[in-house]
Amino acid sequence: MSGKSTVTPMMAQYLDLKAGYPDALLFYRMGDFYEMFFDDAVEAAAALDIALTKRGKHEDEDIPMCGVPVHAAEGYLLTLIRKGFRVAVCEQMEKPEEAKKRGYKSVVKRDVVRLVTPGTLTEESLLDARSHNFLAAFAEIRDEGSLAWVDISTGAVHVMLCPRVALGPELARLAPREVIVADGEEQNFAELVSDSGAALSTLGKAAFDSTAGEKRLTDLYGVRSLDAFGTFSRVEIGALSAIAEYLEITQKGNLPLLRPPVHERRKSVMQIDAPTRKSLELTQAITGGRAGSLLATIDRTATAGGARLLERRLSSPACDLSVVANRQAAVTFFVSDVRLADDIRDLLQGVSDLDRALSRLALGRGGPRDMTAIRNSLAQAVRLSGLLSESVLPEILTDAFQALFGHADLADLLERSLVAEPPLLARDGGFIAAGFDTDLDEARTLRDKGRGVIAKMQADFAELSGISSLKIKHNNVLGYFIETTATHAERMMTPPLNETFIHRQTTANQVRFTTVELNEIETRILNAGGRALDIEKTHFEGLIQAIVAHSGPLGALARALSEIDLAVSLAFLARAEDWCVPKLDDSRAFHISGGRHPVVAAALEKSGTPFIANDCDLSDSPIWLLTGPNMAGKSTFLRQNALIAILAQMGSYVPAKSAHIGIVSQIFSRVGASDDLAKGRSTFMVEMVETAAILNQADDRALVILDEIGRGTATYDGLSIAWATLEHLHDVNRCRALFATHYHEMSALSAKLDGVDNATVSVKEWDGDVIFLHEVRKGTADRSYGVQVARLAGLPRVVVERAKIVLEALERGEREGGSGRKAIIDDLPLFAATPTVAPQKPKESQVEKRLKGVLPDDLTPKEALSLIYELKDAL
Ligand code: ADP
Repeated sequence: MSGKSTVTPMMAQYLDLKAGYPDALLFYRMGDFYEMFFDDAVEAAAALDIALTKRGKHEDEDIPMCGVPVHAAEGYLLTLIRKGFRVAVCEQMEKPEEAKKRGYKSVVKRDVVRLVTPGTLTEESLLDARSHNFLAAFAEIRDEGSLAWVDISTGAVHVMLCPRVALGPELARLAPREVIVADGEEQNFAELVSDSGAALSTLGKAAFDSTAGEKRLTDLYGVRSLDAFGTFSRVEIGALSAIAEYLEITQKGNLPLLRPPVHERRKSVMQIDAPTRKSLELTQAITGGRAGSLLATIDRTATAGGARLLERRLSSPACDLSVVANRQAAVTFFVSDVRLADDIRDLLQGVSDLDRALSRLALGRGGPRDMTAIRNSLAQAVRLSGLLSESVLPEILTDAFQALFGHADLADLLERSLVAEPPLLARDGGFIAAGFDTDLDEARTLRDKGRGVIAKMQADFAELSGISSLKIKHNNVLGYFIETTATHAERMMTPPLNETFIHRQTTANQVRFTTVELNEIETRILNAGGRALDIEKTHFEGLIQAIVAHSGPLGALARALSEIDLAVSLAFLARAEDWCVPKLDDSRAFHISGGRHPVVAAALEKSGTPFIANDCDLSDSPIWLLTGPNMAGKSTFLRQNALIAILAQMGSYVPAKSAHIGIVSQIFSRVGASDDLAKGRSTFMVEMVETAAILNQADDRALVILDEIGRGTATYDGLSIAWATLEHLHDVNRCRALFATHYHEMSALSAKLDGVDNATVSVKEWDGDVIFLHEVRKGTADRSYGVQVARLAGLPRVVVERAKIVLEALERGEREGGSGRKAIIDDLPLFAATPTVAPQKPKESQVEKRLKGVLPDDLTPKEALSLIYELKDAL
């Protein structure tokens, strides 16, 4: 027998469908399961940790198979998507009965209805409510590049010009889940895209074609020309077109509601590259999660939409003074009226994720609960509008206020049509409210009455037959039937009872009957139930249409609610944490007084330790060279100033007593890096690559933060590189900068360079230990206290003592010049062979000596007191 002849019609259908999706797992619907075959099954079974079985043969080989139940499919989908798979969902397009009608060998028609990829998710359970889920596309025409991105779960579309060199920082800012590039370009973008945590997908070059793209987009938006939305360059149209094509492929023509594309200008937002975001832990902590990031620390939003807006603002602080001023004004409005803010927050708690409910309904994936989410949010919007009075609102809130109105018709429709708490799925009905449609009410009464009648019938039949255990039951094969045990059945099959009871089926222990009356009532119930369901389904479709027709204003309402939520939440934050309004202008000022690091301060607060606020003033000397021992608080100080600038320009209040900041266009933050072994680069190489990026890019509006640059190499190399870097920042970049170093020698630079000032974090030395005061003051650190810090860290005492001796020798050598230093090092006794150094006990202090001789039990209270005086004197 040839291999081909063993292919069953079903397998032939499967293989045909699978051929269209070689890069995805095919979820092949069979009744209540999605089944996977061949390699898909092997991969999915391993990824999902489910059983791998076999089903029939293909070309004389067993076919590996695994399956997941349809009702639990979302969870499995999520796992697969997280593990980097794409899933093509293939459904049955007709009922099995219809296939049978065509002939007994016919296979049920099936088709792929959707390709699920990381960037195209819409299900609530698959998405993080507080984060965006962007799908991005990068297009290039000659040396011009453009990035377009969409969140199909909210419908927002953006596009910008973006040369290839700027792609990394932009991906870091947007953190998309999936990035599309042209076929054949995978190699060029793989690293960049995976660095941003996104999946890489490709489309044929034709998808990026701007001429065909223009048509695709005008069709998509139903407009004659894209000019209606602004002017887009060819490369931008290319990127948008790729997005449109990808949506078409993945959603199989079931297109999401997309808002018109919005142009973004790269220069209108503060430029923050990927390493800077990472080191400042803006939206993600170094450890990877959201917890411990600035975002998590400042998030007081009440709605998912508000949380997403906060993330967006924090990722893209503005560079435009009027934009910042407007946002600030909205926060100030609520800072000055806490009662109002409180009331609004209470209302916002009842607002659902409008954007996402809307997109699910538009994509045909929504349910009755998405409708009630919209209904409830509309009701909250009306209550909210009652709390605000337009005449006193600042600009942003005025816009938001206006968007709260104009939904009365839809609100009324949803209010009247839907029950309070509907079921999840429309399938079984039960979501349309009583009183909304008299036909529906009637059908439901008939159906419910029928059920009552059945109960009564059972009692009547029991009485008639004298069999009290007789039951009326229902299954899908027989419909309603009367069931009794075999012993009783005898009687029902003999006269006179057999005139009423008609035998239907005998099972092992039971015998089943029906009656004419029961048949009739069954038909009535079925008809009424089916009719009720049909009516509900029609209403469901009608409601979807009404909602989708109102999607523009609903989208605007969602944005308005998010904007109000964000302003209220930032006001709460400002009041609770005692933050101030920063003053922003075009100057080159950077004067923060009493600044704090919000994340470190919050962590310390939990352990009851106060955070020491510090000033920073770069207005006269734009560069501060910060020295001080490790653990003194240098990094914290550096970062807090960058965070204050970011918070200020996103429109928030800032953690300080006062702040005056001349707009910052770029922020760079680098920390003496850790090895990036995955990329095969050493610590030092990473440091130098990143420092180079700053020196090449920073302009005079940049704020640069360098923490221990140069520590990855030999002392003199490191010192010279740090030195030259600082000079370059001062002379060429002319930016504002905070530069922390442990090379104390660099303090000398302040005498040579006008714009450089020395600052240090104070410590106190006490009985051989250092105490960190965490106070930043002008001046230089007198010593590095490295040995003392090592001791605090628990380095063995012998090593600490030994280090002190070496240090003293080195310092002596320093004073006596190079050759003297070498001679002294040569003279140092060897470590292991020096019993004088090894387990040597520290010298006993006077206080210790005196205490040793005291027997506490023998002391009178008076003697004890005078002993304390004596000890104190001896200190
Ligand atoms: P450095 O960069 O000088 O090694 P860090 O900035 O990492 O020091 O700070 C070390 C620790 O000191 C922090 O984890 C924090 O607990 C504490 N710290 C830093 N700055 C302050 C401050 N201003 N007030 C209180 N504690 C601080």
